[in-house]
Amino acid sequence: MQTCSLCNTSSPDQANHCVNCQADLAENSTTAVALKHFQANPRVKAVTLASSYNACSYCYEQLDTYPVDEVPPLPHKGCSHENGCRCFYIPVLSEIYP
Ligand SMILES: [Zn+2]
Ligand SMILES: [Zn+2]
Ligand SMILES: [Zn+2]
Repeated sequence: MQTCSLCNTSSPDQANHCVNCQADLAENSTTAVALKHFQANPRVKAVTLASSYNACSYCYEQLDTYPVDEVPPLPHKGCSHENGCRCFYIPVLSEIYP
């Protein structure tokens, strides 16, 4: 599941464009917008990938902390959960991750 940052409508993981407003979800999903903000913030040194407790095994294997310019896009293309990928980003700030 991915959420459009422009109209707040949820679209399936496979959708490239928002089912409501046709926005490009690679640019405008809430996770894509959040990642852009992290990458523009010099205090963000890394991004941790987190998921809900019942993530599928594929998503579970992707959970890690990535350098800010190597963060994989969400939703995960290989996700096999019936509700789709529900992973999200957590920024790691320089103060706690030197
Ligand atoms: Zn939309
Ligand atoms: Zn998954
Ligand atoms: Zn995932």
